[in-house]
Amino acid sequence: MHNFAADLQAAQADLVLQRELLAVFRTPATLAPGDPGVPNPGLVTEIASVLLDEWHARYTIKKPLRFVVSDSKNVKNALACWTPTNDWVVVSLGLLWLLSENADRLSRDLLFVLSGPLNLQMTQRLRGDVSRSLAYTESLYAGAVAFFIGHEIAHLYDGHEGFRGHSLVPGKVVDPNLTHEYQALELGADYGGTRAAGRVAMKKFIDILEAPLVQGIEDQLLKRELLLIVSLGPLLAFTLFQPEALKQVLIDAGTHPDDRYRALWMVSNLMMFFDELKDQQDPDAAIEQISLALTIVLIQNAAANDALVQLFELAPRDGDMAVLRTSGIRRLLFSEEVTNHHRLLYATYGPLKDQLQRFARGPDAMPMQ
Ligand SMILES: [Zn+2]
Repeated sequence: MHNFAADLQAAQADLVLQRELLAVFRTPATLAPGDPGVPNPGLVTEIASVLLDEWHARYTIKKPLRFVVSDSKNVKNALACWTPTNDWVVVSLGLLWLLSENADRLSRDLLFVLSGPLNLQMTQRLRGDVSRSLAYTESLYAGAVAFFIGHEIAHLYDGHEGFRGHSLVPGKVVDPNLTHEYQALELGADYGGTRAAGRVAMKKFIDILEAPLVQGIEDQLLKRELLLIVSLGPLLAFTLFQPEALKQVLIDAGTHPDDRYRALWMVSNLMMFFDELKDQQDPDAAIEQISLALTIVLIQNAAANDALVQLFELAPRDGDMAVLRTSGIRRLLFSEEVTNHHRLLYATYGPLKDQLQRFARGPDAMPMQ
């Protein structure tokens, strides 16, 4: 288990970090993830510990990787920061509360809508001490938190400090002529974040089952539910992503790519992630569940719960794709405009990655294709 008490002490002694915290979160105060003020402190501690231990076990360490929670409730943000003595990942209390509330809300709705047409085998397979509601809430929150921690770790891992100075602060444009370079680095970080979220949410979901998943027919439905929950967690990152935004022109400005583009990128990363799983027998089911997850998040953001219920009521058990097609969300996401932007950022990322190699903490983090 990672030593978060030592990180908290190191945070108070690291003056470069203190300055960054004040600039980004408007307070230098920090908490350990196990602090009672943190939503579900046990779960956040567990996720941060898993991801930090993974890092320390696998890579040549130049500096320790450390994690603290910023005591800012108003700023909903996360940050990677490198100082002369430490590598830092910081997530704010405000962001954790937002993710926790969204996971709760979504879990309640899922419990309601999944009791109908998608009534899966989950209830019978849960460990005796776990309710279905808790299973959803924990898996969703775990995936969302792991996405943000994984995203910031990926910035450090790939050596993005070589490009952007002290830290990676959303919106902090150092040079407006380098927009595509900034966005390309975010693409690399989202790749790391999505994979971390997938691993963590999947483990969380499987842990609460009383027996491992098997290849039987009855488990095929459970696997679909697993794919759906694992896809929903990282997509909770798009809390402000509105369906109307899909109809507008892609915004090509700022340090972070347009949400519509990031959502597409996350969807393709999830497909890659599920594809690599050995027991994933049905790639079509994966695509279906990822698309369904995206649709659910969009509907949730529009606060139209009736539409969410309708989505499930309209969908016969194997007909989700028909509903998704008529909703037009996939068509808009995979438009030529978004695909072209993807090509542009991907072409920017290659040479940039080579250039930053000497700052990287590990070997290739993202496969080039
Ligand atoms: Zn970032």
